[in-house]
Amino acid sequence: MSVKGHVSLVGAGPGDPELLTRKALVRLRRADLVLYDALVDERVLTLARRAQRFFVGKRAGRHALTQQEIHAVMIRAAKRGRRVVRLKGGDPFVFGRGGEEAQALQQAGIPFDVVPGVTSAIAAPASAGIPLTHRGLSSAFFVVSGHDRELFSEAVGALRPNGVTIVVLMGFSRRAEIAAELVGAGWDPQLACAVVADGTLPQRQVWRGRLSDLAGDRAQISGGGPALIVIGKVAALEVGGLGRVEETPGVNTAVAVRARRTR
Ligand code: SAH
Repeated sequence: MSVKGHVSLVGAGPGDPELLTRKALVRLRRADLVLYDALVDERVLTLARRAQRFFVGKRAGRHALTQQEIHAVMIRAAKRGRRVVRLKGGDPFVFGRGGEEAQALQQAGIPFDVVPGVTSAIAAPASAGIPLTHRGLSSAFFVVSGHDRELFSEAVGALRPNGVTIVVLMGFSRRAEIAAELVGAGWDPQLACAVVADGTLPQRQVWRGRLSDLAGDRAQISGGGPALIVIGKVAALEVGGLGRVEETPGVNTAVAVRARRTR
């Protein structure tokens, strides 16, 4: 009798491999097949020691596989009894098409689970010292895709100008247009904003300025890493950043890991 396969839709976190969840680590170690996207860090992939690894994302503007093909590969592999990890940057359900993949697996009757990841929407700003909510400055945040002009306009059109922190994913190339649109809709041109590129990684870059600077295309970031935009008073804050486990005072990593396992 063949063992029935399984698919895990796993969030790989925002970049820093230390931000991977323990559940994700277990899934990766047990995987036979890993299907991964462009933003997944190489150091996370190598944790899947015994798995075959396939890149199925978008590179240089071209999709390696269509969404339908990805569904078909996952379903076929699971039917053959394989343990498949579908690995996505950040969280699988935040602009990752994880929902569609979960529906396809559900319809095909394949056993699957979802392992949430640390989303870049929160972690990249945090690594630049920006809290998305802060007493007296912002009591809500709004995460939106900047990729599609119409969908973006529709989403932010529902907001009261200057009322919440906006985090724009997939919007860096349209940054000037996005900022100009917000100013046109009543957002304060003097409002603080920031661009965080390669958030949580050692090569992280942060630009800070005003909405009018962003609209005037004065936000410069070098390098081609993923970038997001934070708009709102909190973007002016710089309250620390992310440390590394090894740097935590008094913590010996090996001891810390052992202690957690015995619990
Ligand atoms: N599911 C992912 C988001 C996928 S959309 C998540 O939860 O994080 C891809 C967008 O995420 C990029 O265009 C960029 O805007 C943002 N992004 C991903 N990783 C990032 C990082 N390390 N630093 C800054 N932005 C990042």
